[in-house]
Amino acid sequence: MLKSHLKFNSKDGKRLILIVDDEKVTRDLLGKITENDFEAIYAKDGEEALEKIRENADILSLILLDLKLPKMDGREVLKTIRSHEEWMFIPVIVLTSEEKAEVECLELGASDFILKPFRMPESIIARIQRTIELFEDRYIIQSTERDEVTGLFTRDFFMKYCEQFDLYHPDLDMDAIFLDINHFHLVNELYGRETGDEVLLHLADFLKELRETTNCTVSRIEGDKFLMYMPHGSVDYETVSREINSHFDAFQDAFIRVRAGIYMNADKDIEIERRFDRAARAANTIRGDYSRFIAFYDSSLHEKKIFEERLLNDVDEALKDGQFYLNYQPKYNVENDDPVLVSAEALVRWNHPALGTISPGVFIPLLEKNGLIQKLDFHIWEKAMEMAARIRDDFGKKIPISINVSRMDLYIHDLIRYLKTTMKKYDLDSDYIYLEITESAYAEDQNQITETIEKLSGEGFTIEMDDFGTGYSSLNMLADLDVDVIKLDMRFVQNIKSNEKQEKMVKLVLDIARDLSMKVVAEGVEEKEQVEFLKAAGCDVIQGFYFSKPLSEDDFIDLVKKA
Ligand code: C2E
Ligand code: CA
Ligand code: CA
Repeated sequence: MLKSHLKFNSKDGKRLILIVDDEKVTRDLLGKITENDFEAIYAKDGEEALEKIRENADILSLILLDLKLPKMDGREVLKTIRSHEEWMFIPVIVLTSEEKAEVECLELGASDFILKPFRMPESIIARIQRTIELFEDRYIIQSTERDEVTGLFTRDFFMKYCEQFDLYHPDLDMDAIFLDINHFHLVNELYGRETGDEVLLHLADFLKELRETTNCTVSRIEGDKFLMYMPHGSVDYETVSREINSHFDAFQDAFIRVRAGIYMNADKDIEIERRFDRAARAANTIRGDYSRFIAFYDSSLHEKKIFEERLLNDVDEALKDGQFYLNYQPKYNVENDDPVLVSAEALVRWNHPALGTISPGVFIPLLEKNGLIQKLDFHIWEKAMEMAARIRDDFGKKIPISINVSRMDLYIHDLIRYLKTTMKKYDLDSDYIYLEITESAYAEDQNQITETIEKLSGEGFTIEMDDFGTGYSSLNMLADLDVDVIKLDMRFVQNIKSNEKQEKMVKLVLDIARDLSMKVVAEGVEEKEQVEFLKAAGCDVIQGFYFSKPLSEDDFIDLVKKA
């Protein structure tokens, strides 16, 4: 698989060199100087030079390159060689009469420099020989950096190569691409390693073909993961993705699909590795999605991640600093003409010193995902209990406060003990605190969750099934669950007017709830018509902006005072 520059021109054991100069005299002279030690081929302009290189790349040991050339300038030729994935291993010595050109040529990647007119033939030979030796030594090291299975660059070398490519093409927009074979481990397990390797080669061959037509660079970094660095606009990715996948139809049994993440116009100010991380992250967004095989990196994804990391980082400090506080949203009983305040829901807010007020819709799911919700909820729940006790003590009233219990909270093994001891601290009975548990929790791990809910219910807590209508629970499941109250999700409520089916659904839920002696609370009620409809259908308790937005502690206390 490896192309070896160590194989020299076999004719008489001499290494092959290419002499590029537009003047016949110079070509002949150099031919004469080198004829005892090297086999020479010639080119008289830049285009011919590239042609000769293409034909002999495998066995070419060195290029002597004049800078001033017709058709294509020597500098251009040099640039092309240095940024070509296969040719970059061929050393180039520049021939010029401009002494000043030296620095520029070395910057472009020339290995050495010979001034015209030529003075000492022996020194020219010596320079050529030394340069070839240096390059061959280096190549031996580099060739171990090729992937054995596919012959593609390994990760480290690929990264270095991309950096070098950028250096020569600072103004070229580049796309960073990450490729991954879906369930490749299964291919290995089911069909054996050999087939696995075949699949990898199959993909590598496709990518190599792409490399021929687009000037992109390809690497297999590990296992079934490949990277490509591609000049932007070279191909239509949707088409290529389709082609890759149909390329695999030969392996029909295994149903192999390649997933791609693409970071277009990658920011060259960030490290090359990070650019490919972004491409990989994009690819991960469609992991397990069998309808999409290509995803583009979206910088807002990155910003979101940074934002989330910041929030996670700040949680402990925020807890210590008292940045979390509660709003209370009243719930009203509407059975009679005058609505009566019967309870309230505690809703957390985060007053972040730098980011301002952050909505729980943003940070709650984040804390749930990262296992931090328990800390916050314990903190919040105690505040809610404090409020219930304060209302009892200061106003002699019983206004139960609902707290939101995340499904993650239900896995806390001493949840019940915590609730009981904290309530004891405020001398509260279980009927002062209601627990809102989102409907989707019931669908998750029914045994564990229903068991915990049963225990909570056994301790006398009122259980409210939150967001009802958004999860998976069927109506007949309700009969088996220890649920006291159904909280109709606001989407349900807000569709009442526009959707007749929803209207029927709400009525049906209310009927069933009545049969099961469960109460129904409607949340997110914003309009008078909704209130009227719900009342008529037999809904007892209503919560929503129509009656009140979530209130600050002080405003809530005022409301309680007046009630
Ligand atoms: P949720 O429990 O379903 O809470 C209802 C959400 O709807 C609240 O948003 C509330 O402010 C909003 N809302 C109430 N009435 C209306 C209305 O008439 N119209 C509209 N458009 N919206 C209304 P919020 O406060 O942003 O809370 C979002 C979610 O965050 C909550 O949904 C709950 O799942 C979660 N959450 C809030 N506080 C806590 C907490 O202390 N612990 C846990 N684990 N989750 C919490
Ligand atoms: Ca709730
Ligand atoms: Ca809800």
